Amino acid sequence: DAERPRVTYATLTADNEALHTHYERGADTARSWLGRVIPVDVGGESRSTGELFTVTSPADTSLVLCQGHTATARDVDDAVRAAATAVSWAPRAERLRVLRAAADLISERSGELAALMTMEVGKNRLEALGDVEESADLIRYYCDRFEEHDGFTADMARLSEREHTRSVLRPHGVWGVISPFNFPSALAAGPLGAALVAGNSTVLKPSTQGTFSAAKLVECLREAGVPANALHLLPGGDDTGKALVAHPGVDGLTFTGSHAAGMEVYRSFAGAYPKPVVCEMGGKNPAIVTADADLDVAATGIARSAFGFSGQKCSACSRVYVHRDVHDELVAKLVAKTAELVVGDPLERPVFVGPVVDADAVARFSDAVAHAREVGQVVAGGEVLGAGDGRADGHYVAPTIVTGVPVDDRLFRDELFVPLMAIAPVDSLDEALALANDTDFGLTAGLFSGDDADVERFLDEIEAGVVYVNRAAGATTGAWPGVQPFGGWKGSGSTGKAGGGPHYVQLYLREQSRTVVA
Ligand code: GLU
Repeated sequence: DAERPRVTYATLTADNEALHTHYERGADTARSWLGRVIPVDVGGESRSTGELFTVTSPADTSLVLCQGHTATARDVDDAVRAAATAVSWAPRAERLRVLRAAADLISERSGELAALMTMEVGKNRLEALGDVEESADLIRYYCDRFEEHDGFTADMARLSEREHTRSVLRPHGVWGVISPFNFPSALAAGPLGAALVAGNSTVLKPSTQGTFSAAKLVECLREAGVPANALHLLPGGDDTGKALVAHPGVDGLTFTGSHAAGMEVYRSFAGAYPKPVVCEMGGKNPAIVTADADLDVAATGIARSAFGFSGQKCSACSRVYVHRDVHDELVAKLVAKTAELVVGDPLERPVFVGPVVDADAVARFSDAVAHAREVGQVVAGGEVLGAGDGRADGHYVAPTIVTGVPVDDRLFRDELFVPLMAIAPVDSLDEALALANDTDFGLTAGLFSGDDADVERFLDEIEAGVVYVNRAAGATTGAWPGVQPFGGWKGSGSTGKAGGGPHYVQLYLREQSRTVVA
């Protein structure tokens, strides 16, 4: 399709006219979908029996996106049993063909899928386009790795002429995916793509807020040829997720969400024997700025990472340790950058900061701001924004910067998932690294420094799975499949193998050693 602009992080720029046209056309289509009812989908059978829930837009709470039918324990059971009949759902070459076709459908529809996502979770247009295209690229990347390694088979050493052994990686069976609201497409598509290309059959339980985006993704996969029993959609909330985690027929599970919920899943998922679980569980991601850093680059990268998607990325930067000599200058630059950010309806072209996802997030923001005023200073933002200035009545808060807070305060420890960052002065890189690592999380981290030795020390000593140095495009955010493998250490992740990286698809496979004597 010549009209469809290719999207990568490099083309996601505000002045790409073709992208804006593509998105605006998509928005017209997406508007025509509003108000639909999303049924439970068990093996292609639509079930409309479970309790109804309503998804409204965080950008305009009078806008109903969809209603969803909550999948019951019975639906979960039926889906898992049906999925068990579809393991190794097609020969390898056919799986690759189908999944690549699904990726192309997602790309083709990226304008409408992105606009729907904007309305559903409040993600701005460029970031929503990124999320959708990332979904397609994750699937493509896992297909490429699987093909490149010939399905991960290996000939092993021979001890005798007649005896031959091959190592073969085979699917685990039924794979459950519990996906979050913040990347409602990419963080469902990635695990589903990896699980499916590996030959597993899959059951998806999306976050309630991301129900519509997830249903549209399932539509693309099914239309491309993923058989109905290899992919089931179970809308619903915590009870549905818990029923899936507790089901003994689920052989492997990917969970993306909060640390507390992820640890519960991790502990409870094992059944009669250990089962593989991939958990991605948030962060409290630091940026460190040394005295000789380029402060304009640092301020640009940090503001993007702290306030992109209103601080609701697991990778968001929420704490900054800056050398005392340049603290005031960096804060002044960050305050100026923040003042330039347009907050408002994320469907609108100039808007960078949309709403936060729900009233709970607004309450967490207000509580954090009140606390910050007690223990430090709020130097930018701090307000909950009502309707006005082109904003409908939604969950809007101002991007907020806090200084003067003690480094052991909860604002430096707890993941808040709102656009609020705390900045502290330090006397040395040693002190900054010690503070940066003094956390149970370990997802992303950024350094801004002009000194090669500092860069080496940071790379060797920072305890995080995804690290960036001197990156204006994002101090801690913006990983792309096949470019930056994305996975957490410590309390942020459970496998040490990152999404969009070369070792990820193997997580969805188990090894069988096959010795045959001729
Ligand atoms: N991959 C995204 C990024 O690097 C973040 C994904 C997430 O928040 O879970 O910004």
